Amino acid sequence: MRYDAIVVGLGPVGATLANLLAAEGLSVLALDRDARMFDKPRAIAIDQESLRILQAIGVAERMESRLGAYKPTEYQNAAGLPLRRILPAPPPWPLAWPSYASFVQPELDACLRDRLAEWPNVTIRLAAEVTGLTQHADHATLTLRDGEALDARYVLACDGGGSTMRRLLGATVEDMAFDEPWIVVDTLLQRDVPLPPTNVQYCHPSRPATFINGPGRLKRWEFSILPGEDLATMATEASVWRLLAPWVQPGDVSLWRIAPYRFHAVVVDEWQHGRVLLAGDAAHQTPPFMGQGLNQGLRDAVNLAWKLAWVLRGQAGQALLASYTAERRPNVRAVIAITKELGLIIGERDPARAAERDARMLAEWAAGQGEIVRQDMLPPLQGGCLHASPGAGAPGPQPWLAGHRRMDDVLGRGFRLLLREAMPLPATPTLHLRSATLAELAEEDGLLAAWLTRHQAAAVLLRPDGTVFGTTHNAAGLPALLAAAEAALL
Ligand SMILES: Cc1cc2nc3c(=O)[nH]c(=O)nc-3n(C[C@H](O)[C@H](O)[C@H](O)COP(=O)(O)OP(=O)(O)OC[C@H]3O[C@@H](n4cnc5c(N)ncnc54)[C@H](O)[C@@H]3O)c2cc1C
Repeated sequence: MRYDAIVVGLGPVGATLANLLAAEGLSVLALDRDARMFDKPRAIAIDQESLRILQAIGVAERMESRLGAYKPTEYQNAAGLPLRRILPAPPPWPLAWPSYASFVQPELDACLRDRLAEWPNVTIRLAAEVTGLTQHADHATLTLRDGEALDARYVLACDGGGSTMRRLLGATVEDMAFDEPWIVVDTLLQRDVPLPPTNVQYCHPSRPATFINGPGRLKRWEFSILPGEDLATMATEASVWRLLAPWVQPGDVSLWRIAPYRFHAVVVDEWQHGRVLLAGDAAHQTPPFMGQGLNQGLRDAVNLAWKLAWVLRGQAGQALLASYTAERRPNVRAVIAITKELGLIIGERDPARAAERDARMLAEWAAGQGEIVRQDMLPPLQGGCLHASPGAGAPGPQPWLAGHRRMDDVLGRGFRLLLREAMPLPATPTLHLRSATLAELAEEDGLLAAWLTRHQAAAVLLRPDGTVFGTTHNAAGLPALLAAAEAALL
């Protein structure tokens, strides 16, 4: 049997991508090396774009009651003074999901796998490790450790930071020069103890550290490992209790996971090698200071899924698939660069440079420049399958519609043209366009109307992944906008 797609690796990115491809009606083989799911927390923050992606496969609703509020993150100097506050955007939320939320990754992984098992067009194979790859003109063949060969028209490599697929492809990586040893400690609160109400980045030159409030009883600390310290020794329970002593004692919390971890910043150079495309940690790894590793991986998945489906159905050409790398690589690189900057602020261990940093940031704080909205730090997509116009490349708005239903659930997820008012529509044979005016949508909170006003737009065209393809100021510009979308699919 030749599958449309084989997804290698059922971490959160591979499992999301497999679900998205299944929703497109493709035949999917989803396989993972491990017999069982990794059951410890890693990612702890999920953002509105990711939740909208999970909405597309019916998983966000299953996770909704398990999400926690994501607290502001306060950067503090060694004297405990605030240097910066990074805030989740307040409601009304433009994508109809909390702008940021905390969550427990194994709960998400389980929801994703449960959902995947429900598709009749998906085969799941666990304990199936890919060890070989051969590419042909119209398909790729994977070899498993036991020698079994599996064919697919495309292979999606989602096999994580230590990616075997990357090695088999000979893919080169750009090292963005960040390599710091840290320990990540996940705990479960056992009794009421006074802990910071916000998340905190302790910008202490003596030992940079992080505290994060997870959902429920989950509390996470992360500690920088100092030069001369041994990562493995520092990761023993006795050492960890010494590190936790300023906040909690044994009995206050139980230890769930101690993970010695090197925070890396790397991006693979080419994300498409013939019939194999990389996504998630297999394509990029970031330090966790923006909580974006998984979120960026889910953006890869949603960007890739519709493009691959359109290409496999013969509705679009190879240029559309090439736009995956063209859009995602520079975007994730920019996010990693910002994350790295934050990491350098937090991780400064030189007391003199830390004092300079404090003086600069305290002055910014005093001048009212210390608070930043987290979403404002994330850049839009650029280039690729987009029409240069206001709002292009950003996540398109998702208002709540009459009956308190989210727009994507009502309109579906193809190309959607949202119009301020009715206007003549040129024929669009390729786009399979759905269009709706503000009056027809009957949004609950005026969010879309405000978005159009802010972008001086009479209409916005959303892609199947929810990204803004482009906008037009007036009816006269509509034919050009739609023609550009049709051309992008050729
Ligand atoms: C401590 C820590 C904190 C983090 N915090 C955040 C956060 O707050 N927010 C955020 O967005 N991200 C965060 N991240 C990053 C996030 O956890 C990762 O980006 C995410 O889990 C990557 O998902 P993935 O599916 O790409 O890879 P993985 O989860 O690594 O999954 C890869 C899968 O591939 C399988 N596999 C590997 N090799 C093969 C093979 N040869 N054949 C078949 N299967 C194979 C593996 O068994 C695994 O199941 C954090 C990471 C860590 C470690």
